[in-house]
Amino acid sequence: MSATSPKVLRGRQFFANPGPTNIPDSVLRAIDRPTIDFHDPDFVEVYDATFAALKRVLGTEHHLFMYSGSGHAAWEATLTNLLSQGDTILLIESGHFSDEWGRMAAAHGLEVQMVPADWRHGVEIAAVKAALVADTKHAIRAVCVVHNETATGMFIPLPELRAAIDAVRHPALFLVDTISSLASLEFRMDDWKIDGVVGGSQKGLMCPTGMSFTGVSERGMAANKQAKLGRYYFDWTVMLKRPGKSFIGTVPVNAFYGMREALRLLEQEGMENVIARHHYLAEGVRRCVNVWAGNNGPQLFCTNPGRYSDSVTAVLMPEGHDAEELRRTARYRYNVSLGGGLSRLHGRVFRIGHMGDLNEAMVLGALTAVEMSLRRNGVPHGKGGVEAAMAYFAS
Ligand code: PLP
Repeated sequence: MSATSPKVLRGRQFFANPGPTNIPDSVLRAIDRPTIDFHDPDFVEVYDATFAALKRVLGTEHHLFMYSGSGHAAWEATLTNLLSQGDTILLIESGHFSDEWGRMAAAHGLEVQMVPADWRHGVEIAAVKAALVADTKHAIRAVCVVHNETATGMFIPLPELRAAIDAVRHPALFLVDTISSLASLEFRMDDWKIDGVVGGSQKGLMCPTGMSFTGVSERGMAANKQAKLGRYYFDWTVMLKRPGKSFIGTVPVNAFYGMREALRLLEQEGMENVIARHHYLAEGVRRCVNVWAGNNGPQLFCTNPGRYSDSVTAVLMPEGHDAEELRRTARYRYNVSLGGGLSRLHGRVFRIGHMGDLNEAMVLGALTAVEMSLRRNGVPHGKGGVEAAMAYFAS
């Protein structure tokens, strides 16, 4: 706590991180229950219902494997189940998370061919197409993309990427990280012919961290039979021999009770409404930041309006002002938790998460704390940002 802050922070902390996110009370209550044997028929019903609902949210009728582990675990499971040492992947640069996925692939002995992109503007689909056209021998086994780059607040239009792969008739698998887009942005695994979808529990799915999963197409399952990278806990073939056709070890039963409830909440709201709500709340945040940007203030990091993320907004601080200092003021003076800048954006960017269990008042609370922190820290900014968001939400 800083010297100027109150010793005690009363009230509930406003949590505006882009994952983990706020967990609805009914999800917390669902998790808070006595242990039950994971073979017990009562639990098996919950397990099966969770798989079925998650498949509906993913938009797939194909395969789904779940793991105890965060999103990194699902990345590792997906790569090792689909590829063999020396295989080439075409990785689309988007920011910290595409870099991280590339580091993991390289650690497994995969060749990583990057399609470079400006982190503020995003990749040109034509550049992806050109890389695939140049690959006349079809050495590229998989095109890997982060649907929504949580570090920069930018998404990539998956149907356009799918169309680019189809246009050049490239047989590569299409692998997508949907960790910060699922249940926040439109996502359709089967319609967009995605072969491997990586997801996690702690963002749009409104659950605690620690469960992750891969949705797999029939082409993906065929590739799995040829894939030789080492795996055991994550091996889909081994999983399919287990009673629940997933989970090689103990099943995290309480997490399942939580996820089943979270999926019930999402389906009760209706996925189209969930997506629309995310767009609406994100638009309020962007209107606010665009006002702050006046007077050489903080601005949207993403400079490509067609690709603004509806689940997270990254805000670039003016030159000479430290984003970490601002986050400290928000956290220790106003009890609002914001996301920090990742890797090369550390100190330059702060991030406002607006995904999951959120409404206008919660968003406004976070924006107000940021605006107060800007004033308190002497960061130049245009006045009236929160007012602009209020006007939008009241219209
Ligand atoms: N991919 C994206 C887009 C993410 O936002 C994150 C985490 O924030 C990850 C991957 C890594 O997931 P985890 O932190 O759950 O391991």
